[in-house]
Amino acid sequence: MLSFEKSKQAFKESSQYMPGGVNSPVRAFKNVGGNPLFISKGAGSHIFDIDGNEFIDYVLSWGPLILGHADSKVVTDLQAAVARGTSYGAPTVLETELAKKIQAIVPSLEMMRMVSSGTEATMSAIRLARGYTHRDKIVKFVGNYHGHSDSLLVDAGSGVATFNDIHEAPGVPEDLAYDTLTVPYNDIEGIKDLFAAHGDEIACVIVEPIAGNMGVIPGTADFLKTLRNLTTQAGSLLIFDEVMSGFRAAFHGAQSIYEITPDLTTLGKVVGGGLPVGVFGGRKEIMKFITPDGPVYHAGTLSGNPLAMTGGISTLDQLDDALYTQMVTRTDQLTTGIKDAAAAHNVPITVHHVGTMWSYFFNPGPVNNFEDVQKSDVDYFAKFFKGLLQEGIYTAPSQFETNFMSSKHTEEDIDQTIAAFNAVFDKIEVG
Ligand SMILES: *Cc1c(COP(=O)(O)O)cnc(C)c1O
Repeated sequence: MLSFEKSKQAFKESSQYMPGGVNSPVRAFKNVGGNPLFISKGAGSHIFDIDGNEFIDYVLSWGPLILGHADSKVVTDLQAAVARGTSYGAPTVLETELAKKIQAIVPSLEMMRMVSSGTEATMSAIRLARGYTHRDKIVKFVGNYHGHSDSLLVDAGSGVATFNDIHEAPGVPEDLAYDTLTVPYNDIEGIKDLFAAHGDEIACVIVEPIAGNMGVIPGTADFLKTLRNLTTQAGSLLIFDEVMSGFRAAFHGAQSIYEITPDLTTLGKVVGGGLPVGVFGGRKEIMKFITPDGPVYHAGTLSGNPLAMTGGISTLDQLDDALYTQMVTRTDQLTTGIKDAAAAHNVPITVHHVGTMWSYFFNPGPVNNFEDVQKSDVDYFAKFFKGLLQEGIYTAPSQFETNFMSSKHTEEDIDQTIAAFNAVFDKIEVG
């Protein structure tokens, strides 16, 4: 058995200073009944905790670290940048450089703004949509997560789904929640009915085209096409929240898979290469509504700071189609291995993967929306998660989250991970 004594001690102490002992809820391992590991360092596909244990890491800081931990070029570039100062509150050419790189990969961002988190990106995008359309209502899908701003916390996935009744959002004024309309994910008839009743009041529809905050659930092509058509007809904006799926579901984002051009896109996670960055952007005519060109206010003391921009540039610079092919191949190998291991042990499982995102549900499936995810065996999941940790595999500590692949994961890592899944299936009886 691995010892987690130092992490236990550290958690006891942190719990006196921070609610739940953490600065973001799912990190607490609360729903898997464990004690979070305190990390001392990362290197490539591996992380190390303060007890000296080593793990193959599939959380990768919840997605950003597509080049793995402490990539040598990213580290060197950041060291050079920090020596020149961390922030000036004035423009640098780095911002334009990152914007150009983003646009080359996701061309629908004709103009964009840099912010410091995905939450800020989606919050700003919906304000822009409301300002542009002069409408108040927004539509989101049950189990999709768009960060923790008031309007978007209704029926949300991720940590909200892990810990709370997702229909409640204490602290969000009822008047605001009233303007957020929700529909089940992939529910074509539901969204058609909603537009038939409220189309001319809807400012925007925001959607994760590949949902990643209730495990991985791809939007169906018909569903996403329906959203594009309905919003266009109603004069509403379509926002693709690609904070997770951008550079992950495919190099050019989920929008390249479906060949759908949203009006606005939000990015985050990979786009900062492990530093705090979010981006919102899209059609020029809409983005021109942002201050100082237009009336919709948006600002940020550290928005586009040179360190964050360098993290993004250095990361995007190293991505290309060949590297994606390698990562997707490894993801295929791993998820096939997991499916085979579960089948050999007669454990009902549904495994989903798109690009470099993957997750498994202890549920015979199909899993197409939040209601389906909820039928998963979360008790078995908790036991299984702990079993994997003991085997040196660090995965997302919730049935409602996604795992990732990095360019640093090797064939050996994958083989070792599949062996670990088999070992844990051997040990844990299905309840
Ligand atoms: C992570 C995530 C966010 C929030 O980003 P933060 O940087 O955590 O604020 C928003 N939308 C999606 C789809 C995400 O996965």
